[in-house]
Amino acid sequence: MNQIIGKLIKGKPVHIWGAGVSGLILGYYLKKAGHRVYLYEKENRVGGKIGTTLTEFGPIENGANALFLSPDALELLDELKLAPLPSALKLKRHLFINGKFTSPLSLSLILKIIFGRNKKTPQLSNPTVEDYLLPLLGQELIDHLVSPSLGGIYATEARGLDMQSLFPEEFSAKTYGEFIKRIRLRLKKNRGMRISGSVSFKGGMQIFINALSDSLKDEIKLNYNEPFHLQENTVITADAITAGELLKETPFASHLKSIQYAKLSTTTLFLKEKIAPLKQSFGVLIPRDQKIHSIGVLSNKDIFSANYSQYPSYTFITPEVDDLNAKIMSDLQVLAPNIKKSDFLFMESKLYPAALPVYNKERREAIESMHELSQTNSNIILFGNYVAGISLREMITAAKNFSLT
Ligand SMILES: Cc1cc2nc3c(=O)[nH]c(=O)nc-3n(C[C@H](O)[C@H](O)[C@H](O)COP(=O)(O)OP(=O)(O)OC[C@H]3O[C@@H](n4cnc5c(N)ncnc54)[C@H](O)[C@@H]3O)c2cc1C
Repeated sequence: MNQIIGKLIKGKPVHIWGAGVSGLILGYYLKKAGHRVYLYEKENRVGGKIGTTLTEFGPIENGANALFLSPDALELLDELKLAPLPSALKLKRHLFINGKFTSPLSLSLILKIIFGRNKKTPQLSNPTVEDYLLPLLGQELIDHLVSPSLGGIYATEARGLDMQSLFPEEFSAKTYGEFIKRIRLRLKKNRGMRISGSVSFKGGMQIFINALSDSLKDEIKLNYNEPFHLQENTVITADAITAGELLKETPFASHLKSIQYAKLSTTTLFLKEKIAPLKQSFGVLIPRDQKIHSIGVLSNKDIFSANYSQYPSYTFITPEVDDLNAKIMSDLQVLAPNIKKSDFLFMESKLYPAALPVYNKERREAIESMHELSQTNSNIILFGNYVAGISLREMITAAKNFSLT
């Protein structure tokens, strides 16, 4: 059910509350489809959690550092006349386990997948990702590979993530072999594009936001603080907590309030020296049981070198928002003993007490209930990263499809 909640009334203007990336993408596609759109943004800038601060050493991303391409995403970049900056290929990926940097691809993982192909998947009513993959992979690989990998995207471990939400087309497979086949089929759809993988832009993700915003410059009202009111074609693209407050008089409110959020911070450092084990690498994922505050580190300059000066840059992703300086320094001591205080050039943190919606069963059930409610509440439309996917690429496809209905 990866779709926007609600339906448009044809021929009437569309009022979009929130000009984060989801509001901008939806506004773009609706305008393209011939709708009159208005975007109301309470802040003095658009983009919400996406934006780039430029420093003399290179960009610091507020939130998303990359767009993972799909055919729809590539088509949108072409329409916006944006030149994507592809991420470097063949970078090493690391896990940090028991004080060592290791490769995520282990012999034990490969053997478990090969010998587990004929095993039946668990027939549970609402399995978490951990419930579903445990019989195939075992606890060690769940804790040290699956949870860190998904945690880097969803800020939630495998035991808190709803299998059906993450793999809607694959989770009903009867065997693990069938499950893997369905995943490969999904990935196949993205093959054959002239560029693939993650991209950014020269100047960072702000360039994507600027292009969307330029295409809607006559439609966006910044610093908009007029009281919210419902009218035909009211779309809310703010987070679920805000949407719940705006819709407090409606039956949507209780469902919106049941959606939980995970906190997260990003701390970007520019250093004179490289973190030694992260040379020519994408970065490192850190399982939660390693007594390190951060869950991952991105090697920004290795990934998008064209955006950086000579100095290396790293972004620490931490599921905490308090005492961050002390926590990052302590993480650095463990991960990068070669870095000294005198190697620091610049450091900045962005804190998000409600960073990302938790993709659990409660969220899925709330979304299902609101799809039903929208059948009888025709003027309410809901979109944002808690509705139809957390990533920009999912938002692009959902908004494009909605504009075509
Ligand atoms: C640290 C981090 C890293 C990420 N990395 C990636 C990545 O690499 N790739 C990727 O694809 N995704 C990534 N994501 C996810 C992605 O960035 C988010 O899902 C996306 O930015 C959310 O956009 P949104 O428009 O739904 O919400 P928001 O960005 O929260 O935007 C909501 C907007 O609504 C406005 N608003 C709120 N209340 C009102 C009101 N009452 N009236 C009017 N306006 C209002 C806000 O000011 C804001 O502009 C990341 C997220 C985070 C937090």
